[in-house]
Amino acid sequence: FFLGKRYPSFGFGIPKSSKSSIGKSSPLWQYILDHSLREHPILKKLRLLTADHPCSKMMVSCDQAQLMANLVKLIKAKKVIEIGVFTGYNTLNMALVLPDNGRVVACDINEDYVKIGKPLWKEAGVEHKIDLRIKPAIQTLDELLASGEAETFDFAFIDADKESYNEYYEKCLRLIKKGGIIAIDNVLWSGRVLKPRKDDLATQSIHHLNEKLQRDARVNISMLPMGDGVTLAFKL
Ligand code: SAM
Ligand code: CA
Repeated sequence: FFLGKRYPSFGFGIPKSSKSSIGKSSPLWQYILDHSLREHPILKKLRLLTADHPCSKMMVSCDQAQLMANLVKLIKAKKVIEIGVFTGYNTLNMALVLPDNGRVVACDINEDYVKIGKPLWKEAGVEHKIDLRIKPAIQTLDELLASGEAETFDFAFIDADKESYNEYYEKCLRLIKKGGIIAIDNVLWSGRVLKPRKDDLATQSIHHLNEKLQRDARVNISMLPMGDGVTLAFKL
């Protein structure tokens, strides 16, 4: 599934120079894609379809999605959570590498976004692995906890409204098993975490979680300058 051709410079899923340590216009960035990206053809189709959307910048970076798929495979995950689906690129990405009886609990409040990618989940033959919940993600996570699913998940990707990041993290930490991974997206927030303004609640929230994670003894962590920054928290 290698992509033979080069990405257009305005390509979607490609980090902006302000967000990444290697900007999208850098020849090194193109080199990374040319020498590492292996994208399933239907994932590529969904990425290109999403590129036409006015909110296309919300989609996860394709190299980062590939890292998450590799982690999901490495830990032989069966149950994963996606908090913030948008058009479903990473939901599809994870469903593709889960076993046939695996499950992605996919949380979003906006069905119009999800509708864009849903037909491609079907086309890829993984629709049966995706449990879509259209409601506030906090509610879905509480329902999972109430139905006795604590410590049964292997992986979670937190990528919805930034103001709720701490709550998402705490609930995901209860839902995943020891040895499970939580990936927290946009932890650099285009550099705004360096000087969080008091009235900027999203930046404040991300920055506070970053500070908390640095000293959180329940997890080991790595903060990667990939995409807009992603922290991997490994539950101990
Ligand atoms: N992870 C996606 C991907 O792979 O492309 C991108 C997610 S996008 C950055 C954020 C999404 O979070 C949007 O689709 C938005 O509708 C959703 N969202 C915002 N607030 C939410 C909430 N309270 N509960 C669930 N989803 C929410
Ligand atoms: Ca994101």
